Amino acid sequence: MRRAIYPGSFDPITNGHLDVVERALRLFDEVIIAVAQNSDKNPLFTLQERTDLVREAILALPDHKRLRIECLEGLLVDYAEAREATAVIRGLRAVSDFEFEFQLALMNRKLNPRIETIFLMPKDNYTYLSSRIVKEIARLGGAIDCFVPKSVRTALKNKFL
Ligand code: ADP
Repeated sequence: MRRAIYPGSFDPITNGHLDVVERALRLFDEVIIAVAQNSDKNPLFTLQERTDLVREAILALPDHKRLRIECLEGLLVDYAEAREATAVIRGLRAVSDFEFEFQLALMNRKLNPRIETIFLMPKDNYTYLSSRIVKEIARLGGAIDCFVPKSVRTALKNKFL
C-alpha cells in the first residue's frame, strides 16, 4: 500500500488543492489530507470548520474512498512515519512558492530521510489561485464560483455576512 500525506492549512480548501489531490491519487493508493492548525497564519476558519469543508469537498471526487482526512499533529515527518506514509505531497504553483517549499522539503529530509517530498503542479488555470486570494475576493463581494467548491462558497459568504 503506497500512502502519502498532503499537509496544509486549507483555509479554505480550493479547486487548486483538489486538483493536487486528484493527481496524488493517481500515484498513491491512499492519500491522507492533513489539516494543520497553523495559528501563525491566523486562519479565518477554525480547524474543525476547515476539516469539515475538506470532508465535504472531496465527496465530489470519484476516488474519495482512497482519501482520509485528519488533523495534523506534531512534526510532519513523525506524523508521516507513524502512518507508514512514504511521501509528503506539496503543490507548486509559481516560482514564488519554490523557495519556501524547497527549504521545507530539505528540512524535512534532514529530519527524516525516509520521507520523500513530491511536488505536483496544478492545472494551469489554478496556478494563480490561493486560499488567501479567494478570501480576499469573497470579503470584497467578488465571484469565486470557479475557484472553490459550493460548500466553501457558502461558508465564505456566511463569514463575510
Ligand atoms: P500551507 O500553510 O501549508 O502552505 P496551504 O493550504 O496554503 O497550506 O497549501 C497547502 C499546499 O497546497 C501547499 O503545498 C501549497 O503550495 C499547495 N497549494 C495551495 N494552493 C494551490 C493551488 N492553487 N494549486 C496547487 N497547489 C496549491
